[in-house]
Amino acid sequence: MASRLFGIDLGGTKIEGAVIDPASPDRALTRLRVPTEGSRGYAHVLGQVSKLVGMLEIDSGVRRPRRIGFGTPGVTDPSTGVLKNSNTLCLNGRRLREDLARVLGCEPHIANDANCFALAESLFGAGRGRGVVFGLILGTGCGGGVVVGGRVLGGLHGIAGEWGHNPLRAERTPCYCGRRGCIETVIAGPALERYYREHSGANRRMPEIVARAAEGDRAARSTLARLRSKFAEAIAAVINILDPDAVVIGGGVGNIDLLYAEETRRAVLKHTFNHELRTEFLRPTLGDSAGVFGAALLSAASRS
Ligand SMILES: [Zn+2]
Repeated sequence: MASRLFGIDLGGTKIEGAVIDPASPDRALTRLRVPTEGSRGYAHVLGQVSKLVGMLEIDSGVRRPRRIGFGTPGVTDPSTGVLKNSNTLCLNGRRLREDLARVLGCEPHIANDANCFALAESLFGAGRGRGVVFGLILGTGCGGGVVVGGRVLGGLHGIAGEWGHNPLRAERTPCYCGRRGCIETVIAGPALERYYREHSGANRRMPEIVARAAEGDRAARSTLARLRSKFAEAIAAVINILDPDAVVIGGGVGNIDLLYAEETRRAVLKHTFNHELRTEFLRPTLGDSAGVFGAALLSAASRS
């Protein structure tokens, strides 16, 4: 039964696991979750993962495979296996790969959660059939992952696809990463909401800002115009380097229709080193399953 894949999405509030059959990978045989309870410490989180893997075995009737895929926030350094930049703080600085291997008796394959999203959407979601897919998550932050020929590009430092910390021209807002003018400080949801607040005096969430723009609210319209022009500049830099067949846009801000409009494509073309733009901009199709499916697929894609 080595053909069954186990995937774990290790999130800040919940740990989700799925067992999938590679023959029909967009449907889980079993899908379960346990709370992360990160405040109880690192050893507790490892225990929760172990408990979940045991539950998956019982529920699916499938013994754990030698390889298990994990999606996590943050980045695992490929040379050391040490996790960094995770919002589940107790994981940072830990040798997560080694520790999971010890606790689970398996070979963990760990990737950033945006990479898992990109992999799942590339193989079985919106980007199916395309050779090179850039999957990005535009929500509370700006994550991204690159999939080429069905494989995630991790990168020498584990940061491949981290487009959110490229600088935008004329932007100077400080970023938590220590730099200024990062894409994330301009077009992530909180940054757009802050821009709206500065121009209207009102605190509103993005869905409401989008609705108000349609009703003629000037601050809302200028917030969306800013999203269009800055997204165009940001994604054109990715296209100039990677030239992907498709860009799949996940996350809350990724739901906004404007990103897929012809006017946005024209704005992207202005910054692209080409006379036409054929890159597809696609909405994800796997919903909240992409993370855990991508983690499972990671264990298959890592086979050599
Ligand atoms: Zn930054």
